[in-house]
Amino acid sequence: MNKDRSSKEKRRLPERSQELISLEEEIKTCYRCPLAGGRTKTVPGEGPGRAGLLLVGEAPGKDEDQAGLPFVGRAGSVLDRALKEAGIDRAEVFITNVVKCRPPDNRRPKKEEVEVCRPYLESQIEIVGPKVVILMGNAATKAVLGVEGVTNLRGQLFSDLFLVTFHPAAVLRNRDLEGALVSDLSAARYRAKILRGSADDGGGSDLPGGQGAFSTEKRDSTFESARGRESI
Ligand code: SF4
Repeated sequence: MNKDRSSKEKRRLPERSQELISLEEEIKTCYRCPLAGGRTKTVPGEGPGRAGLLLVGEAPGKDEDQAGLPFVGRAGSVLDRALKEAGIDRAEVFITNVVKCRPPDNRRPKKEEVEVCRPYLESQIEIVGPKVVILMGNAATKAVLGVEGVTNLRGQLFSDLFLVTFHPAAVLRNRDLEGALVSDLSAARYRAKILRGSADDGGGSDLPGGQGAFSTEKRDSTFESARGRESI
């Protein structure tokens, strides 16, 4: 695990609700799908009981499986950096995956595994009550929205709640994508602030609403100024 994050966690353990703790206990003893057989630890998710942003990845990898925490490996370092650049405090967001157990050889989770595990994600969203759910990569987008094609979908908002962006592992393979990830995270943070009624630039009356509100063209002009503001 990243040593910096480990020591940070010791300083700032997020406040978690009893509902979230109970759900995590249920996940830890879950054997509903074959992924249970290959796991070292379940990886329910990490973050406070209520959060403006909830991030969803694909599945735990080797490091996450060992630690029982999401995004602690190389992709986690990319996510940490992107969050920081977007002005987001990792301790204040909730991070999880579509499935809570590591698939063998890091393969993509099968459709039936996603179906069986999805109620846990739905419960997490309900409990945490985010203003924006950030779907990172095709697996998360497919699991929640039923569509894929993150390259075309990124930066777009669906159902006034779900924002699609690249998975940090994709950034590891192509560093050129990092700017887009940071930009999408910044846009999500800004929207969460506006919906919470705490935007510090006049209330966001110029914010486009509905699907496509985060489209590249609109986002670059509307949300560019979001960077560098206080975290949600
Ligand atoms: S992946 Fe989800 S459904 Fe499958 S065993 Fe793990 S927690 Fe249960």
